[in-house]
Amino acid sequence: MAIIGAGIGGLTLAIALRRRGIRAAVYERADELREVGAAVALSANGTRVLHALGLRAPLDAASAVPTELIYRHWREGGRVASFTAGEAYAERFGSPYCGVHRADLQAVLAEACGPQDLHLDHRLVGISTENRGHELEFANGVVAHADLVVGADGVHSTTRRWVADAEPAAYSGTSGFRGLIHREEMPSLPDPDAIQFWMGPGAHVLHYPIGDGSFVNFLAVVDDPATWPGSSWVADVSPDLLREPFTGWHPGVREMIEATSLHKRWALFGQSPLRRWHRDGIVLLGDAAHAMLPHHGQGANQSIEDAATLASLLHRFAPEQALPRYERLRRARTRAVQRSSWVASALLHLPDGPEADERDRRLAAIPDTLQWIHEHDAEAAANACG
Ligand SMILES: Cc1cc2nc3c(=O)[nH]c(=O)nc-3n(C[C@H](O)[C@H](O)[C@H](O)COP(=O)(O)OP(=O)(O)OC[C@H]3O[C@@H](n4cnc5c(N)ncnc54)[C@H](O)[C@@H]3O)c2cc1C
Repeated sequence: MAIIGAGIGGLTLAIALRRRGIRAAVYERADELREVGAAVALSANGTRVLHALGLRAPLDAASAVPTELIYRHWREGGRVASFTAGEAYAERFGSPYCGVHRADLQAVLAEACGPQDLHLDHRLVGISTENRGHELEFANGVVAHADLVVGADGVHSTTRRWVADAEPAAYSGTSGFRGLIHREEMPSLPDPDAIQFWMGPGAHVLHYPIGDGSFVNFLAVVDDPATWPGSSWVADVSPDLLREPFTGWHPGVREMIEATSLHKRWALFGQSPLRRWHRDGIVLLGDAAHAMLPHHGQGANQSIEDAATLASLLHRFAPEQALPRYERLRRARTRAVQRSSWVASALLHLPDGPEADERDRRLAAIPDTLQWIHEHDAEAAANACG
């Protein structure tokens, strides 16, 4: 078995398979595992899987648990809605919510995966299907063989072209700036230990504490540029570009923005739902199957759910029976999360007015609205699949 991509989904799958006695070779195009970007928020549906894989202790050591989830008005900073997180969240959903630096998460996963089956500097460029499986061609000239190939190679997946006749992931018209700031640099920021959304006209900011809580990770999203130039999803820009959309925002947000000199912006892409997730023993997982906007903080969590589901099914069924079950279990759920994150994107950027007032009223029910995402137990769902 070959897994293409040693990101969050690919590594989680390799660990989950190994725990069931199935070994897979993981091929990663990068020559070392270095996560780009800042941090990731893991909700109960993701931490539940990682804990079951025996990663609770290293994950706890590397992550911070936010005290509350708070939505705020962009200028006045008043609480629009707030909910207790911390222990109350863990009790309600059976597992914690936490913020972790991506490099730390990847280190935890890579350590658990071990080096023996990890092949760095292997960029997949071609797959040809043979009588007895697949021949994989890598840019470094290596050729490998596998009966089953899992494309966990991210939003701009190469593997996807052998599975689905899909349009490439579409640019959403929004881009994000990601940064890490020491909490002391933001004296006006209320509740730095909480996970907070600041919602304003044409932009929003999401932040949460990570690691030992001294640093706050933020993602500032703006409705700009209207079209994305080129094929790379990260572009070099002047740090001033980020300041302008947040003029007039609450001092806590401005301190956050002004303390950084971010000169990279990330295009936010979404993939239209794929009609098929597998073909002839090649199957997609994570962003390769369902890239989504990050506004529910679910891309990584859904990749982790995919990995738990696929590993459980491959343990119990032959691949030709496991793959259709995997697609059936995962496609409808991830499609619903994808759709919901597009809706959230527009709602978070409303200007003040009646529509924003209506959104604010609805936010009062957010823990119930999002319950179906956070309460999910991917492994139990796979085990219940006959
Ligand atoms: C700004 C932003 C903020 C986010 N915040 C959150 C959050 O708070 N919570 C959350 O759950 N999600 C979040 N996400 C989404 C999350 O980062 C992704 O959904 C998640 O990383 C997907 O995991 P993956 O394993 O599918 O892909 P990735 O983690 O992208 O891994 C893919 C891997 O495949 C490798 N690869 C690619 N092509 C090849 C090839 N041809 N051959 C070999 N290897 C290849 C890549 O180098 C990479 O290592 C955010 C995303 C963005 C853009």
